[in-house]
Amino acid sequence: MSNGIQISERDGVFHLSGELNEYADLSSLLTKTPPLRLNLKEVTRINSIGIRNLLKFLTGWGDRAFIYEHCSSEFIDQVNMITSLLGPHKQGKITSFYVPYECPNCEFEKDIYSDAAPYKQALASGIWPKQECPDCHSTLDVMSDSFFSFLT
Ligand SMILES: [Zn+2]
Repeated sequence: MSNGIQISERDGVFHLSGELNEYADLSSLLTKTPPLRLNLKEVTRINSIGIRNLLKFLTGWGDRAFIYEHCSSEFIDQVNMITSLLGPHKQGKITSFYVPYECPNCEFEKDIYSDAAPYKQALASGIWPKQECPDCHSTLDVMSDSFFSFLT
């Protein structure tokens, strides 16, 4: 169990920390009250067996509401590929995440943390939240347009 993911509750939010891998056991969360808020900020690595363990948990969780917070861009990539990570009825919500940005002018790349709300609005309005390159002050580009497919 020492290699498994650690779960700690703080103010009604369940913080996962460590590696989401073959040792990850989320079954202790099955008895919690929905909406289940999962904060992924301290998840350091994700592998395919860990994703399978998370999917197994979600099958048990069923159609109850849940929320992912503080998702890494790596996790968002997984959600875009495996939409059942939003639950069997796609009822899961993602309220905050890291967006991968790159500078069109220099080598700068960074994952920038944000709430989902401004990006949801941007999908409707076409006006994207601006981020400035700290090195050359150009406007940063989102690395991949398909990154936001999970919001649609
Ligand atoms: Zn730059």
